[in-house]
Amino acid sequence: MNVELLTLKALSPLALHRRRTSEQFAPTLDYLPGSTVRGALADAYLQGDPSRAEETLFRQLFLSDEVRFSDFLPAGKFDLARVLPATAVACKRFEDHADSRSDALLRLELLREWDPPDLAKHNIWKECPNCKAINLKGKRDRAEAGYYAPDDPATPIKVKRRMIAGAAIERATGTAAHSMLFSHDVIEESGAYDGQETLFRGAVSIPQTLRQDLKDLASQHARLAVGYGRSRGWGQLQVQGWDTPRSEAHSLQERWSAFNDTIRQLWQQHGRAVPGQYFSLTLQSHLILKDEQTGQPVLDDIQAVHLGLPVGVERCYCALSAVVVSGWNMAAELPKADDWALSRGSVLLWRMPHDADPQPILKRLEEIEVNGLGERRNEGFGRMTACEPYHYIFTQRELRGGSQ
Ligand SMILES: [Zn+2]
Repeated sequence: MNVELLTLKALSPLALHRRRTSEQFAPTLDYLPGSTVRGALADAYLQGDPSRAEETLFRQLFLSDEVRFSDFLPAGKFDLARVLPATAVACKRFEDHADSRSDALLRLELLREWDPPDLAKHNIWKECPNCKAINLKGKRDRAEAGYYAPDDPATPIKVKRRMIAGAAIERATGTAAHSMLFSHDVIEESGAYDGQETLFRGAVSIPQTLRQDLKDLASQHARLAVGYGRSRGWGQLQVQGWDTPRSEAHSLQERWSAFNDTIRQLWQQHGRAVPGQYFSLTLQSHLILKDEQTGQPVLDDIQAVHLGLPVGVERCYCALSAVVVSGWNMAAELPKADDWALSRGSVLLWRMPHDADPQPILKRLEEIEVNGLGERRNEGFGRMTACEPYHYIFTQRELRGGSQ
């Protein structure tokens, strides 16, 4: 299986609705779900001729599990962007207070250990350093959802949006219909005002035998259409190019060590012994997981066994939220039943005893990082990263700076 990065450029406003909707105000997603890109490529293949869906190549590319499309996220410089974790924090008052950017996962786990929690001590860390420098009492709070490039985690990747208002047209008269004003929230196209490009990048996992066929279909400058409003020219994307992903800057083993080193230092600073070895899983896309016994969706009741982690792994602090995802069954040409999923950005922290061998867990985590988990993985669901550096690099810096 090859993994290739595909970059798409928005040529017109994009309106990607969260759900099937008929409301007068429809917010857009700020990324292209894997299923959306896959659907757009399938449309490009068919060229308006539904009978081509019977071709073997079409079925291999779009209806099999052989080819997987990740979500296409707002693009940083080179690599696939990461989803900002639910534990990310930033200054509550000033967006440009860069030193306030940090992550609360390890701090919140430490707080959980105290009974009663030592809030006074914890809250020292919550002060925004930039506010403090100008004698203001600003606090860090949960950061807004967003993205960052792995090589520059302190700089959020911005998605520009704007509102487009429109009126429904009365069919009989051809004029604006009474009290039918619609507001559309859209992602701004490339060069709308400032000449900046609006790019999205995703990972496509594809067998060697199909690689060239997909690249021919999505060749440079090929046009694709996604989302709402295509008849009025919205949703136009252009293929910017294919790239080979750069290898991860740090191996899982290195991240595991750095993660646990940071925990040791933080716990030490608060005069506590570390109760075990820790690791985290951070959702890079929604996770649709069903309990094998009951068939029910696994949400905030998620346990180590659902992830295929060995016995003895204990769940610690988690920041979880749930989301309903809809979909389109291309083979049946029908909407898929809605699914409940754990939302991307959700974070799970786990612990195992000091004397447990980390190797089987590292092996399992590596499998999870490569293959993902749960249902609809060929549409980008179930992707996650283990021992994500975002959870420890800021804390490391704060510990070096002597901050609490
Ligand atoms: Zn501040």
